[in-house]
Amino acid sequence: MVEAIFENIADTYKRYPMTIVRGEGTRLWDSTGREYLDLVSGIAVCNLGHCHPELIRAAEQGLRSLWHVSNLYFTEPQARLAKALCNRSFGERVFFCNSGAEAVEAAFKLMRRYGHETKGPGAYEVVALENSFHGRTLGALSLTGQAQYRGGFTPLVPGVTFVPRNDERSLELAVGRRTCGIILEPIQGEGGVYRLTDGFLQLARELCDRHGLLLCFDEVQVGMGRTGRLFAYENTQTLPDIMCLAKALGNGLPIGAMIARADVMTFLSPGTHASTFGGNPVITQVAERVVEILGDEGFLSSVREKGLNLSKGLLALMKEFPDIIEEVRGQGLIQAVEFKRPLEGIWKHFMDEGMLVLCPRNQLLRLLPPLIIDQKDIDRFLEVFQRILRNYHE
Ligand code: PLP
Repeated sequence: MVEAIFENIADTYKRYPMTIVRGEGTRLWDSTGREYLDLVSGIAVCNLGHCHPELIRAAEQGLRSLWHVSNLYFTEPQARLAKALCNRSFGERVFFCNSGAEAVEAAFKLMRRYGHETKGPGAYEVVALENSFHGRTLGALSLTGQAQYRGGFTPLVPGVTFVPRNDERSLELAVGRRTCGIILEPIQGEGGVYRLTDGFLQLARELCDRHGLLLCFDEVQVGMGRTGRLFAYENTQTLPDIMCLAKALGNGLPIGAMIARADVMTFLSPGTHASTFGGNPVITQVAERVVEILGDEGFLSSVREKGLNLSKGLLALMKEFPDIIEEVRGQGLIQAVEFKRPLEGIWKHFMDEGMLVLCPRNQLLRLLPPLIIDQKDIDRFLEVFQRILRNYHE
């Protein structure tokens, strides 16, 4: 039953039965004072943990200097963040917004505008992937290849063709005269942590080059250090033309970014796209520091090392419990454990042990710990998981 103080909140989320009141580093505390190890990071957002002291300092400085002036004017923190992102990526221009869905909307509009201007108004179609997730606004939802999110909202934006992940033949067949772009997640996060093959990504690049299309990578979930590289495309041989970021860019403060090469971004000329809060001075001040800390090579190599240790531990559990665990997959500190059968309420067992995990469905555990997690806590998680699996085994 929902407590009276929460009764005015729209019931659009299935929530875990707890109220969180405080966070510090990798730890969260609920309203009864219980401490938890956070293995969710607010769904791949708080990559530097909760209330990071250097980010607090940047936020305080921002709050005391300038809250908002709109994009009628230039502001320095926005310019510095754009430069930091471009210095670290293939990108040369950044459009700032407030969320992942909005970054995808901006990319969708850019792809359409590009098709319109380079080939004509008939070139408006986009190829996306089955099992993808790009957000809940109508444009982003139209690119999302999962029926469970689309139901009841049709007709959606027309002109989107879906192909199965890593199916090169289908991708080739889907591209035609009317196509203006291809959008994909280098690793499908919400879809269950599935990596795209290098061959598939390279084919997407080749098709874009051959037919004059834009290739957009949605790195909203897997960018910002999650895979052990600042951007997930750095694990591949393929460069996109556009990249969407959000989630961990602000480490918990809302910000999104759509990044592109300069010659591509020119298709969104003044007046074609905008966002009142996009590139807010306080948040960009924080995000600049986030990029600096996450982008440190030593930090990223520690993420790769911890990710490897976590996946080794999970694979050892798969070996020990072959009747329960079907597959372990992921890269860096995004890892999924697929079970052979639904393990109803497994999250509750973790909660009883003082750990928060994400179970998007009863047959899947998705691990997204803060990237600052230490090896001791990874080991502790693996021990607890082993104990819980023993209970399901008996
Ligand atoms: N794109 C991807 C790959 C995502 O994982 C998500 C959210 O999970 C989104 C877009 C939407 O982001 P937001 O919830 O900030 O709109």
